Amino acid sequence: MKIKEYRIQFIQMLTSLYGEGEAESFFYLILEEKQKLKRIDLALQPDLVFLEEEIVVWNSILEQLKLEIPVQYLLGKTSFYGLDFEVNSNVLIPRPETEELVDWIISNNLKIEQSKNLKILDIGTGSGCIAISLAKNLPNAQVFALDVSEKALATAKKNADLNEVNVTFLHQSILDTEDLGQEFDIIVSNPPYVRNLEKEEIKKNVLDYEPHLALFVEDNDALIFYRKIAELAQKNLTNSGQLYFEINQYLGKEMVELLEKMNFKNIELRKDIYDNDRMMLGYLL
Ligand code: GLN
Repeated sequence: MKIKEYRIQFIQMLTSLYGEGEAESFFYLILEEKQKLKRIDLALQPDLVFLEEEIVVWNSILEQLKLEIPVQYLLGKTSFYGLDFEVNSNVLIPRPETEELVDWIISNNLKIEQSKNLKILDIGTGSGCIAISLAKNLPNAQVFALDVSEKALATAKKNADLNEVNVTFLHQSILDTEDLGQEFDIIVSNPPYVRNLEKEEIKKNVLDYEPHLALFVEDNDALIFYRKIAELAQKNLTNSGQLYFEINQYLGKEMVELLEKMNFKNIELRKDIYDNDRMMLGYLL
């Protein structure tokens, strides 16, 4: 079958669920990943065909997309901050909002790292996307990353190798940690922050396939991870150390209050590209 004919069918089958634009973008993502072909190749060689066995693979992906399994899990990879990351159902798929947080940390620290060997800790690293993109872009920094999930850590380690960076991984439950045992210049975390009451806003592809361990918190204690991490930061951040969080868009005010109460200074709350309160920074002066 000609690829361009299959393309039309593929997009048609997914349009009601995803819309034509997204269905088309899936097609080209898979084309690049599975066939090593780009959009332009198809335009230049309109008679390219799929082999029988290739169609079997494509049809299987198509069926799974109909079940709303995220395309990143089907391909086993995604890109974040210009780097490639392996992903699977043990780790959250890195989000563009988190790229903005990483970008903020890098721009605040590019100058500092020239005169100082920064020590950075990422808490709840998941795929490792934050820790690894920081290690790549702040090459003099010493980066540590912690997670409660051994399976997530195995993926994060592969991603560190894939991106040729050195990150020290720690298998640890942050809620059971009393002291981090060393000092850091930067602590960053994108912990679970979605409340059960927000479940109805969450799309099926996230709710049914991404790890709940990385996403959800109890309605009555939504800031449990932030409180714990801020307490540890009070003990384990250096003088003028920076604490960065990705946060629940509905809890910006509560987060500022929490950090103020815990004596953090120069607190800054930032919005993401979608104009939602999404990240913050506090200093321990
Ligand atoms: N931003 C993610 C989502 O909306 C949640 C990430 C998290 O809980 N840390 O799915």
